[in-house]
Amino acid sequence: MPEGDTIFRAARTLHRALAGKVVTRFESVFPALTRIAEDHPIVGRTIESVAARGKHLLMTFSGDLVLHTHMRMNGSWHIYPAGARWQRPARDMRVVVGTADAVAVGFNVPIVELLTPHQLTRHRELQRLGPDLLSDVGPGDGTFDRDEVKRRMRAREGDAIGDVLLNQRVMAGIGNVLKSEILFIAGIDPFTPVSRLTDNDVERALDVAREQLAANVKERSQLLHPSIGRRTTRSMDPNARLWVYSRGGKPCRRCGATIQSRKTGLDARLTYWCRMCQAPR
Ligand SMILES: [Zn+2]
Repeated sequence: MPEGDTIFRAARTLHRALAGKVVTRFESVFPALTRIAEDHPIVGRTIESVAARGKHLLMTFSGDLVLHTHMRMNGSWHIYPAGARWQRPARDMRVVVGTADAVAVGFNVPIVELLTPHQLTRHRELQRLGPDLLSDVGPGDGTFDRDEVKRRMRAREGDAIGDVLLNQRVMAGIGNVLKSEILFIAGIDPFTPVSRLTDNDVERALDVAREQLAANVKERSQLLHPSIGRRTTRSMDPNARLWVYSRGGKPCRRCGATIQSRKTGLDARLTYWCRMCQAPR
């Protein structure tokens, strides 16, 4: 699943290319969406903004209509100059928003819906999102509600910190890759229940999470696809981009101990960690 920084970067790139422009083309493969667009045409409206909220992307049109998309595992947004050849097959197209000079294409995006601002405020999944770890990054954005995140973390004292970081209702933005990386950098065992963490541990995990997300937002990427260019080690070596993720059985870059991996959760995603650098509490 894309991390929040990937969606944030996608939103920012789309915003730069599309905001203030008039929609000249709107297509979708979803019948429900096409039906709404027939009753409330998107073509002719101005794109007011494109913003990320956690892993959700919201494109706001003039006349009170919002396109809500969620990438889930395989979705991605690409943007092309008008008339340019797409880098993915047309059969993967789910939604297209075009202006006179650019075309934004949502490929394999599983969730696409048109909402009114009122529906947006009542949207179950969006309403339940915890504070966005990137909410104060970028121009004109809000503040990060750190106390609220800490309160939500403490409310899940029996849960492992690895699960809590991934829980979008506690805080929005962290995916599976960054979860392992953040806990390695913070020196926290991923399976430690929140109740056993000190306030220092919690603060450190949050600091590292926000640093990592913000750093990856700054790194540029042409394609708005997950996993391209993610780097947590700050190493210039392209083979040493990550500390632990996907490195099970290999030596820890810091201490040389063998990196551990374990399947967790319903979807059996892998957690990676170093037993020495992340000693149990
Ligand atoms: Zn280590």
